[in-house]
Amino acid sequence: MYKYLLTPKSLSAVRSSSLGLLRFRSKFAGSKLWNCSFPARTLIQTLCLHTETEENRHISQSPSRTDRAMKYVLVTGGVVSGLGKGVTASSIGVVLKACGLRVTSIKIDPYLNTDAGTMSPFEHGEVFVLDDGGEVDLDLGNYERFLDVTLTRDNNITTGKIFQSVIEKERRGDYLGKTVQVVPHITDAIKNWIESVAVIPVDGQEGPADVCVIELGGTVGDIESMPFIEALRQLSFSVGHDNFCLVHVSLIPVLGVVGEQKTKPTQHSVRELRALGLTAHLLACRSAQPLLENTKEKLSQFCHVPAANILNIHDVPNIWHVPLLLRNQNAHHAVLKQLNLLSIATPPDLQDWTKMAETFDNLTNSVRIAMVGKYVGLTDSYLSVVKALLHACIACSLKPSIDWIAASDLEDDSAKLTPEAHAAAWETLRNAACVLVPGGFGDRGVRGMILAAKYARENNIPYLGICLGMQISVIEFARSVLGIERANSEEFDAQTSDRVVIFMPEGSTTHMGSTMRLGSRKTLLQTPDCITAKLYGNPQYVDERHRHRYEVNPQVIGALEEKGLKFVGKDETGNRMEILELPSHPFYVGVQFHPEFKSRPRRPSPLFLGFILAATGKLEAYLNIHQNGV
Ligand code: GLN
Repeated sequence: MYKYLLTPKSLSAVRSSSLGLLRFRSKFAGSKLWNCSFPARTLIQTLCLHTETEENRHISQSPSRTDRAMKYVLVTGGVVSGLGKGVTASSIGVVLKACGLRVTSIKIDPYLNTDAGTMSPFEHGEVFVLDDGGEVDLDLGNYERFLDVTLTRDNNITTGKIFQSVIEKERRGDYLGKTVQVVPHITDAIKNWIESVAVIPVDGQEGPADVCVIELGGTVGDIESMPFIEALRQLSFSVGHDNFCLVHVSLIPVLGVVGEQKTKPTQHSVRELRALGLTAHLLACRSAQPLLENTKEKLSQFCHVPAANILNIHDVPNIWHVPLLLRNQNAHHAVLKQLNLLSIATPPDLQDWTKMAETFDNLTNSVRIAMVGKYVGLTDSYLSVVKALLHACIACSLKPSIDWIAASDLEDDSAKLTPEAHAAAWETLRNAACVLVPGGFGDRGVRGMILAAKYARENNIPYLGICLGMQISVIEFARSVLGIERANSEEFDAQTSDRVVIFMPEGSTTHMGSTMRLGSRKTLLQTPDCITAKLYGNPQYVDERHRHRYEVNPQVIGALEEKGLKFVGKDETGNRMEILELPSHPFYVGVQFHPEFKSRPRRPSPLFLGFILAATGKLEAYLNIHQNGV
């Protein structure tokens, strides 16, 4: 049990809480405790937090497993962006978890967008979707996959969210006539948000985690991250030095013919951090080659960090090696020591993890997967799909070989305008063992996707259509098999008389804003006699994440089913089509949801697994063995 300590500080934190409405989806969700209004919840949480007051200081000194203060690991970045800060932060989490600690995480994105929902995948990579419908930065996907946790929308903090909550409070008059300022109002809001979210259980167990890894997006010194840096400085002070550990990720470039490893950029960024009041306890140095001993010494001397706390993350064959690299350099020891957790933690057990990383390295046989999409220029746009394919391939001892096909290159127009690209795209499609059409928005490339779905259907090539990919297969089937030439989705042709995919919002039918169907929804399986039911182990329903606005028109279901396209998964009302299959085909599956978001390294998504098994001719044998849902 938690010690519920009512201290003056916790009470004032309750009074000053500015988080707004947090929607908690925890073990306690649904209980009265967690349905209460935000300030009341904050009170409960704040009482669970052990702020360093005279009354509760003893807790952090005699930490039993449940009575400790929250421990924070802050991961910042210096020199350049794109250093793999997210992977480093999640890897630190993996190592701490391997030491027997429960870990949660928070990602701070200092941009002004409220969430990632409106951000272009071309620019920012995929929008990751959480169980609670949060549309968040793709790094949260990394955390969910690495730490095997289920995060909430509040685990992703943005400047937009913070400012919105403060401005809402100001409009309500909660500041009692005071001038509302970045310091202290914005910084207080950030601190309160962090402390409140850190205690939400994300691993299916009760009570808060032991450690919260906070990743601060961007690079230290960015104007937009200043309020966060200041809030984190204050947090480091208020939680106390043995509850706060800062890992600074930096770059060690190699210049010139001599190939000298340069430490100056890192020195500068550590100095910048110190000027802002934050001290790095560990340095995680990214480099192409391992760091030389004298590079480390220099860094230690000029950055004020013990040599043992200077970690080197050099290039590795795959990202699963990063936690191993950290463990090999005793990163866990340095972090645990800083957080005064050495007496509680166990030696890191990364046996399974090692096996997984090494299995990946040693895969020889590959399977060619054609990915026919719109945003193929930036592979991060489909990051979770790529990861889900990887998880499934590894389970089949195969190396994924993804052939990216820009859908528009498959179209007839492209044969005239860019004949070479057209020929190459078709050649690639024909050489693939299976075809995947992932999610997407807008009509670009849709005709190419329809051609790819047709090709897969007519040639018995395994096909997996995700969200847009499912809608594409319905349009294709209606056109080719039902002969409805103008069959289309309202999204691509609002005027079409043959709307086989229509706008079916859960809420308003007149407003586009907030009409997306988002997050986890139940899909009831209509029959055990279908590939999907068997792959999932014959449950009554599956819970997968959604992010879409359009759906298959319920009025055309009868005609489609008569010609052989079966809707084997529907929502609880029976009006929304969730899963389609073509029983006459070895594997032709379309899903309105996104199974990729819940795929995990050692627990591949059943649909991706089935897709890869089908691509290698092993699905039938697998289903025979797993008939009873093992
Ligand atoms: N654009 C389609 C819709 O809104 C599909 C969305 C998706 O693939 N995520 O329904």
